[in-house]
Amino acid sequence: MCPETSHFLQRDQAAIPERTLTALLLSPGRHGQAAAGPKAGWARQKPMGYPPLTKVLADFFGKLLGQEMEPLKNVLVTVGAYGALFTAFQALVDEGDEVIIIEPYFDCYEPMTLMAGGRPVFVPLKPSPSQDGELDYSSNWQLDPTELANKFTSRTKALVLNTPSNPLGKVFSKAELELVASLCQQHDVVCISDEVYQWLVFDGNQHISIASLPGMWERTLTIGSAGKTFSATGWKVGWVLGPDQLMKHLRTVHQNSIFHCPTQAQAAVAWSFEREQQHFGQPSSYFVQLLQATQHKRDHVTRSLQSVGLRPVIPQGSYFLITDISDFKSKMPNLPGAEDEAYDRRFVKWMIKNKGLSAIPVSIFYSVPHQKHFDHYVRFCFIKVKCRAGGGKVSSSSSRSSGKKGSTELC
Ligand code: PMP
Repeated sequence: MCPETSHFLQRDQAAIPERTLTALLLSPGRHGQAAAGPKAGWARQKPMGYPPLTKVLADFFGKLLGQEMEPLKNVLVTVGAYGALFTAFQALVDEGDEVIIIEPYFDCYEPMTLMAGGRPVFVPLKPSPSQDGELDYSSNWQLDPTELANKFTSRTKALVLNTPSNPLGKVFSKAELELVASLCQQHDVVCISDEVYQWLVFDGNQHISIASLPGMWERTLTIGSAGKTFSATGWKVGWVLGPDQLMKHLRTVHQNSIFHCPTQAQAAVAWSFEREQQHFGQPSSYFVQLLQATQHKRDHVTRSLQSVGLRPVIPQGSYFLITDISDFKSKMPNLPGAEDEAYDRRFVKWMIKNKGLSAIPVSIFYSVPHQKHFDHYVRFCFIKVKCRAGGGKVSSSSSRSSGKKGSTELC
């Protein structure tokens, strides 16, 4: 046992069982240096987050957003990005407030708005039809500026932005973000910007944080997730970055609900960011390597879907893609299922049963009145797809577990 560890164990013996601590502190690599943990206080609780993590988040994102960030004022560590979103909605949305949500949307935005007493107001991205034989891209799905502007009222409190988006994989362009920014400023609206997939942006596209645009830092909460950033979803570490005048309300909610997120996972994320700081932008960077591997998977899955006659909407970011199943629908209009059941739901059930492959019906990412217009897409997740060297077939981990012989391949 290293001297620092034994010193700590003597001091805090009662706080944490020795075996757990030893395993944590003596794990290989710089994690051993999480022996810095004892000095910073494994057993102490900090409602804003474990200090080495809030510090590195403030440094790292301060540079990216062009803001001088103070760990205690501008950063809050939460139980995943889910926790960040929930805290933000609870802190800012009051009874009767309207929240603008762009469709298709990550499904929790609507119930979180409702739980806070707010009213969701939906605005859909409009796909522009691709010509026969042309590839479809998530960038072809756009906001109608007039329709968006008309959604803002005197009751609008917040707009939820998600870039890169789930399920579409859309990366909002600077011009699109400027439109959203100018409307938020004009109507004094807060932007809740969910950027959990910010490191997964393909084809040389650029992720832009709306908080970095002029006049937006003051009214934006930027949400991130270690689960997506470091492929460690089970760690459930997320964060919110924002100006003190908004963050103080989130601190009140967090302090009186969660208070403190588990230290070990926060320490691991702090160390991961510290490492990334040294490698940022270089080939040794985890972000660079993750992006390359994920883009490769995206391309592989795209080809696989095309080879079976589906029409994928190629995502610019995230690890999801949606695919158009209309051609399949016209060939097999009568899949089993309830008469009034959306086609995409029936298709997914059919695919799980017959092909051992799972996906999510895209209509669930829409408000109820809009679902019927978007029941001919399904969403695939390609982060766990295994690509064999030499461009072999693709299998997904979810499908493998089904144990169906001959039905596990996507291509
Ligand atoms: N936002 C989006 C857009 C997501 O896709 C997810 C996870 N699927 C989350 C937030 C939640 O992230 P976490 O796992 O860190 O809670």
